[in-house]
Amino acid sequence: MIVMKFGGTSVANFEAITRTIFIIGGKLDQKPVVVVSALSKITDLLYAISDAAAANDVATTTDLLAQLRKRHVDLTEELLAQSMLKDEAVAKVNELCDGLDKIAMAVCSLGELSDKNKAIIISTGEYLSSTIIAYAMNAKGIRTKWVDSRTMMVTNKSYLKAEPNVAAISERAPGLVAEAYEGMDAIIMQGFVGVTEEGKPTVLGRGGSDYSASLIGMAIDAERIEIWTDVDGVLTADPRKVKNTKYLEKISFEEAAEMAHFGAKVLHPLTIEPAVKKNIPLYVLNSMNPSGKGTAILRNELIEDGVKSVSFKENIKVINIFSTRMINTSGFLRRVFEIFSESKVSVDLISTSEANISVTVDASEKIDPVIKQLSEFADVIVDDDKSQISVIGKNIVRLNGMLKKTFTPLKKTNVYMISQGASFVNISFVVDREELAEVVQDLHDHLFDNPEELETF
Ligand code: ADP
Ligand code: ASP
Ligand code: MG
Repeated sequence: MIVMKFGGTSVANFEAITRTIFIIGGKLDQKPVVVVSALSKITDLLYAISDAAAANDVATTTDLLAQLRKRHVDLTEELLAQSMLKDEAVAKVNELCDGLDKIAMAVCSLGELSDKNKAIIISTGEYLSSTIIAYAMNAKGIRTKWVDSRTMMVTNKSYLKAEPNVAAISERAPGLVAEAYEGMDAIIMQGFVGVTEEGKPTVLGRGGSDYSASLIGMAIDAERIEIWTDVDGVLTADPRKVKNTKYLEKISFEEAAEMAHFGAKVLHPLTIEPAVKKNIPLYVLNSMNPSGKGTAILRNELIEDGVKSVSFKENIKVINIFSTRMINTSGFLRRVFEIFSESKVSVDLISTSEANISVTVDASEKIDPVIKQLSEFADVIVDDDKSQISVIGKNIVRLNGMLKKTFTPLKKTNVYMISQGASFVNISFVVDREELAEVVQDLHDHLFDNPEELETF
């Protein structure tokens, strides 16, 4: 079996879904378990519906709900125009939209939205897309079983950024997938969505469908996990922000994990972890160019040393913690990091001096409780006008001249908090946000357009 995950742009409209079904149709001999995201931009729309409903804004909520219904009903009619399944499919889509309308209007009248209800609202996108595509696949003669991911994707109770229960998923998925496959050519499931032990809906957080695909792949011992998206594979930098990016034929699990963790949005940061557990190769492929080879993400031993990527996080916060009491206080660091850990705020970079600790965190982290607690025993200043850049590649920290090569193009830039060596694959530093675009482009040009040899020492 293989897992094939299709992201929002791969299922955006009639043309994209037709291409996607053609790609799946070519792999039926490998028994695909298809995992789909919501149609492109639909999750954003569902967030907007949640916000409007929570703000008691009946007019906006109704308007957005109507837009959402129309896009899905029109698409279903277009995809199933020639099929006897059309009426049934449209009825099913309307039923899902009715359910959504009901919750959204209830939220509207309450003017209050719990995380539990928000998870139900924002997961509707994946239920709609998977339903429509399942009908369209069947209409094209691919016998496809629609499976509810919530029968197996068990998570904790963090409704909007749930953590999977790997043991429970591994226990449930193989049997359910095998059973669903009986008499079928393919099965289709929703990415992003999960369920608590008690059966309450959750979601894995933005971009979480990649993670769903890799969790399912791990649980069923898939031969490979394919992430189909809108670029030819993993590139040396985000092509939306950097010119002259280059395609990478293969990278290691570790390089991919670091790239994703340090800002490359092509993969959800946790996607690699389940694949590594079972050593399952991952491929990033382009659904708009299906004959391309894509990027293979493989075991470390199969990958050469050298720079692979310049990744960056545009929006980070630098938390500077000052305390004169830090000197000679052995428990200080422990206390500081306990606070981050208890609030589940994940720290990227750390630097310390005698009376100061600076850490960076992603701008999406909820740091207020951390700041409040730290302020009880230290002075805390938060900078939110900074960005973080990471140069990533296997063993780069051991390559002679790598630091010089990284920092040469940055001569006129203020560089804060340099970190290297925590892993051998990553050199990271912080710059002023207003300089980010230029620095990243210069650094990328310098690293990838002058491939002078670097020696391992
Ligand atoms: P999907 O909807 O298929 O999940 P995403 O938008 O989440 O797609 O991810 C694909 C996008 O990731 C690409 O269009 C590209 O702009 C962006 N991206 C960021 N960094 C990289 C990178 N290093 N390599 C390839 N794509 C990248
Ligand atoms: N639809 C979800 C999102 O937009 C999950 C995903 O696309 O991976 O975040
Ligand atoms: Mg994505």
